[in-house]
Amino acid sequence: LNLFNNVEAFPPDALFNIGQRYQKDSRDKKVDLGIGAYRDDNGKPWVLPSVKLSETKLHNDPSFNHEYMPILGFKKFTTGAGKVMFDTKFIEKESLSNRLISVQSVSGTGALHLAAKFLSTFLPGRKIYLSDPTWANHKAIFEGVNLITSTYPYWDPETKSLRFESFIQAIKDAKEGSVFVLHACAHNPTGLDPSKGQWKEIINEIKLKNHIVLFDSAYQGFASGSLVNDAFAVRLGVQELRNVAPVFVCQSFAKNVGMYGERVGCCHLVLPDTESNIKARDSVESQFAKIIRTEISTSPCYGAKIVATILEDPKLTAQWHEDMVTMSSRISLMRHKLRDFLVELKTPGNWDHIVEQCGMFSFTGLTPEMVERLEINHAVYMAKNGRASIAGLNEHNVRYTAEAIDEVVR
Ligand code: PLP
Repeated sequence: LNLFNNVEAFPPDALFNIGQRYQKDSRDKKVDLGIGAYRDDNGKPWVLPSVKLSETKLHNDPSFNHEYMPILGFKKFTTGAGKVMFDTKFIEKESLSNRLISVQSVSGTGALHLAAKFLSTFLPGRKIYLSDPTWANHKAIFEGVNLITSTYPYWDPETKSLRFESFIQAIKDAKEGSVFVLHACAHNPTGLDPSKGQWKEIINEIKLKNHIVLFDSAYQGFASGSLVNDAFAVRLGVQELRNVAPVFVCQSFAKNVGMYGERVGCCHLVLPDTESNIKARDSVESQFAKIIRTEISTSPCYGAKIVATILEDPKLTAQWHEDMVTMSSRISLMRHKLRDFLVELKTPGNWDHIVEQCGMFSFTGLTPEMVERLEINHAVYMAKNGRASIAGLNEHNVRYTAEAIDEVVR
């Protein structure tokens, strides 16, 4: 009868909880810098013009239906997703076609789960190294399938810069063949990415230790506005580790196509370029099919169709690229406005990191106490660790936000 009475309560998700508190807040002036979702200049969710065009095209197609997708996903989508990450020339140059496995996933989280489940099944003893700090869900996703996680140094709060030497040392110190989860671009929560030169050193050290890289790519296009630039680290990793180790890429279309709730993603596994790996490819792929079949049977199809339609139509693809520039440049403008207002207000401290960081977030350096006061006194909501989603700023609230920050910092 009382079988579940001793079940412990699982604390509400901190970020989703911020959103709920924001919704309930009845103050006229309120600002949501919590969850990482793009907002337009009126603070509203934005349906990308390319998505609108794609939906019209989809619904005008008399053969459109809601049938099940194959277990591995919608082929047009998974192939297109692979080309977004690697592009046709790179695929040819690196002979990827017979050693790349691309399966559809329930957005980026689902891709990470698939990779984690696969690793826990076939390489159960390997430790998973996560950046310190990282996206709050990483640890739980890997530990949820009984993998052991550890961290590598990443962010130095004193200097607001990369702890590069310590990061490299952690790669050297980790047991040979460990798994390193690397943010492909627009690191969450810090907004700080290694430079191209630093990426080369990172990948080189990883290569020397035969580590496995798992790239988490949730913001391709958001760091620079360009898909190609933002795929730099992934392509470098795949190229350099070609004869060394497999590379996983967990790809989300939540942010760059605005498909948040539609759950569109892809899990890629690039096998090393050896005859035996190429021979094993289909068996490896079949194990992904097993995981998918037992857990979700098949993936959601609507968002994947929207994305595939954008990717197969050059006009829609061009519109999508423009949409990404629209989003990344509005965020960049807001970074500059926030920094400039803080400078104008003579807010104590240096605020240049806000414009130097990239992607959707700024790791502001505000303390948990300041964040709490921002919420209580000014209805400005952000994550407790001081991470602000810059997409939540706009022409109407950026000055108000700067004044609120000024007040809590003094
Ligand atoms: N990885 C990182 C670093 C993220 O920030 C997010 C979302 O915030 C994800 C993965 C996964 O997002 P989704 O499952 O919505 O694609």
